[in-house]
Amino acid sequence: GVPKQKHDYQSDVARLRKIVINSLYSHRDVFLRELISNANDALEKLRLTALKDKTVWDGEETLNITIKSEKNENGKGGRIIIADTGIGMTAEELTNNLGTLAKSGTTEFLQRAESSDATGTGNLIGAFGLGFYSSFLVADRVYVSSIAPKTAKNPQPAQHVFSSSAEESSFEVYPDPRGNTLGNHGTEITLVLKDDALEYLDTHTLQELVNKHSVFSSTFPIYLFTTRTEEVPEEEEMVTPEEAGEATPSEKSDAEKAKLEDDEDEDEDEAVIEELSDEKVKEKEEEKKEVKMKPVTVDEWVHLNPMPPIWLRDPKNITEEEYDLFYQATFRDFTKPIAYHHFSGDSGSGVSFKAIVFIPGTLPDSFWQQPTSITVKDVRLMVKRVFITSDLGDDSLPKWASWVKVVIDADDLPLNVSRETLQGTSFLRQIRRIILRRLIQLMERLAKEEPAKFEELQKTFGSVIKLGAIEDQGNRDKLAVLARFPTNQRNSSSLDEYLDTRKKGQKHIFYLADVGKKISELQNSVFVEKLHARGYEVFLLNEPMDEVLFQNLRMWKKLGFQDVAKAGLKFGDEDLDPEEEKEQHKELTERFRPLLDWLKKEAGDVVSNVVISNRLVTSPCAIVADVMGYTANVEKLINAANK
Ligand code: ADP
Ligand code: MG
Repeated sequence: GVPKQKHDYQSDVARLRKIVINSLYSHRDVFLRELISNANDALEKLRLTALKDKTVWDGEETLNITIKSEKNENGKGGRIIIADTGIGMTAEELTNNLGTLAKSGTTEFLQRAESSDATGTGNLIGAFGLGFYSSFLVADRVYVSSIAPKTAKNPQPAQHVFSSSAEESSFEVYPDPRGNTLGNHGTEITLVLKDDALEYLDTHTLQELVNKHSVFSSTFPIYLFTTRTEEVPEEEEMVTPEEAGEATPSEKSDAEKAKLEDDEDEDEDEAVIEELSDEKVKEKEEEKKEVKMKPVTVDEWVHLNPMPPIWLRDPKNITEEEYDLFYQATFRDFTKPIAYHHFSGDSGSGVSFKAIVFIPGTLPDSFWQQPTSITVKDVRLMVKRVFITSDLGDDSLPKWASWVKVVIDADDLPLNVSRETLQGTSFLRQIRRIILRRLIQLMERLAKEEPAKFEELQKTFGSVIKLGAIEDQGNRDKLAVLARFPTNQRNSSSLDEYLDTRKKGQKHIFYLADVGKKISELQNSVFVEKLHARGYEVFLLNEPMDEVLFQNLRMWKKLGFQDVAKAGLKFGDEDLDPEEEKEQHKELTERFRPLLDWLKKEAGDVVSNVVISNRLVTSPCAIVADVMGYTANVEKLINAANK
């Protein structure tokens, strides 16, 4: 035959395989989820390619995923075969895709896995998914047979096999000795199960696994091959029970009687049972006369995901768990979303659609490192259930909202719209606007109706909301309403709540800002002291975004922001009338003149003036910024920026 090409694994793959193969027993279920999601990707790729090149797929051939388990003839061991009719792989692609690590997340996974223990690694597998390599969690040997459709780059398609065992550090790629069994395109993965993984041969186990982890992993039908025994009516010649060697009903009741007769203390019960037995006997005799049944073996492909996709279903009939599972499978994020909003609408140009907007449970690590707006990968735009693109192009979302995850399915765009033609339409711009509006609505609803979830949102996205209020002019006010800040009186307050409970006559919104300080330190600051004693609420700002936001807002509902660390602080509820206060201030200044002069002389290098203050309650003195000067906080930020 044709010589087999032998390849050594790239070193990272070898390391990864070792981690996967060693232990992780309790997480090996994930292999099925990973292989199904790869099959789904391959089918999606085929359909996308076919939008441009009809020869790849005519739109008629079935697109599906099949799962079959086979026991070995000798009763020992067996195989699972997972096949799809997707884009397939050429010999070269088999080598490159399965022998190297293309996945960006995998490198990070490796680093973390090698520095943690087995359970830690197990959790990581749950979180990252290991893709194709998870096959080796359950299989001693894996064969991937595949054929890619005929294209200019692949003029003579031929079905090839990738084969690798769990032990070897190499793999082989060779023409499939069976010839072409997969048609024009597709992939078939055969897992030769490890001796301790034979439970996966059981179709019930497989069905449960798909139901639990993968019903939402594919929008293409998934079929499982099952064999069951069914009782069917026997229409041919009547076989009497005696001939069949079965106990006749009357014989059976005789036996029952005999048994009961042994027990002499139960005369009364015996009578009752005898009566019942006679009745049953009659019933059974009648049944037997009507239809005679016989067991037969039925082979059947069971459709495991017959429900329409979740976004097309009525939200009333969808549980939170279903949304969570759908989210996790679709966005490969194994944390749960904080919240979601499922709605239908109209793009404004007559295109109706259904959509679900998800707020994820975590913010990507890289979020604060990205300089400007980034392309959104997690907006899945579909037309009539067919995935079209994740790329909103120039109309991608602003940076503050770049983490939102969305599925959106438009009803009546022509199916053959390609990414390129979409870019020119106003449709994407409308979609972007709708997503932003619905995301903000969802956050507003959490603020009003779901305090626990809103708190979770604040923990993860609090700073992001403030960033949005600074950067996104169009949504500034709505986002500022959603921003929360600690104060000297409560853990968290919105600007509106602050105004609602402000003191009578209060003309300013008071705040003290010092990035990086603990809230308790701000709380005990001399600047807050007097206001606190007088019952004023002061925002305590220790996050970088806070003071910038206040400066950007300038006013909130006609009240200006007043930095309490700046001189010239006015309360608005002065106990004394202004004339009286001026008198008192003058008198005190005269009385303490020698002290003030001395202090000014001694500290002249660092302060520009020393004055009597009315803002302190228990502290003897405070150093404040000039009305026109920078606050200590802003000066700190400037110094840091100049470094
Ligand atoms: P990922 O899916 O994150 O890319 P995997 O390890 O799961 O990583 O798969 C590696 C690559 O192998 C895929 O990106 C794809 O190119 C290829 N591949 C895997 N399974 C299939 C399949 N069923 N059909 C076509 N290509 C596949
Ligand atoms: Mg994968």
